[in-house]
Amino acid sequence: MAGLLSGLEQFGLSNLEGMNLYETSKKEEEGEGGESGSHVVQEQDFLFDKSFNCPLCDREFKARTVKIGKAKLAGSDLDLRPRYEQIDLLKYDVIMCPSCGYAALSRFFKYLTSPQAKNIQKAISANFKPQKETAETYTYEEALERYKMALANAIVKQTKASEKAYICLKTAWLLRGQAEHLDPEEEGYEEKKKKCQEEEDEFLRNALEGFLAARQTESFPMCGMDEPTVDFLISVTAMRFEQYDVASRLITGLITSKTANPRMKDKARDVKEMLMKKIKEKNAAARK
Ligand SMILES: [Zn+2]
Repeated sequence: MAGLLSGLEQFGLSNLEGMNLYETSKKEEEGEGGESGSHVVQEQDFLFDKSFNCPLCDREFKARTVKIGKAKLAGSDLDLRPRYEQIDLLKYDVIMCPSCGYAALSRFFKYLTSPQAKNIQKAISANFKPQKETAETYTYEEALERYKMALANAIVKQTKASEKAYICLKTAWLLRGQAEHLDPEEEGYEEKKKKCQEEEDEFLRNALEGFLAARQTESFPMCGMDEPTVDFLISVTAMRFEQYDVASRLITGLITSKTANPRMKDKARDVKEMLMKKIKEKNAAARK
């Protein structure tokens, strides 16, 4: 867990850096809430200032928001991370109030119960150093800080495991994007890349843990994802960390599922093949 929230001291919140991600009180809260390579198209062309009303402190503020439909999807990674041409949209998915420090993924921003609001006021707003209005575009470092604030808020408000897992997943994707955008010519490139990848792994492991817990206790859709999508995501992530029994069980379930669509089943068959290969390799290595 160490490290997930490192870097919050600049917001006056260094005391939150050691919080435990999935340790919650028993009662559940109600409600669920690329950089351009060309000189012509720039990252800010895909963004605009949108006004938000903070559900915690009621102040109005502006945040950089992605223009819907402008960026073209270039593809996605095995674990469903979307990749866009010219911009990494993931950088702009956290909305943070610059006055009180309330932050959440855009899909959850509006939803705040009064006990949650009280918790955030006490643990975050009371110590939060108000920030300047946001810049035109965010660096990966700035985006990462915003995700960490969203995660700190999620832990403090004792939200569902799925919301915390989803923040961890998106933070891992952001770190993957950051590693891809590092300049190989820059000093310390290898070191920086390694650090990004280690952090990505840590966030992914926490995402896996949270989604596995959420699958047992919550209903679908989960963070906008249906059950086959979540199962696919868990399988792929479990495979990455060599948890082959978990991955096998879920991927087999997907292939025989009545609700998964044909496209998802095709993807599941591909993953099953990869999985079989990995299991074989592991067994071969064990016999040596
Ligand atoms: Zn606020």
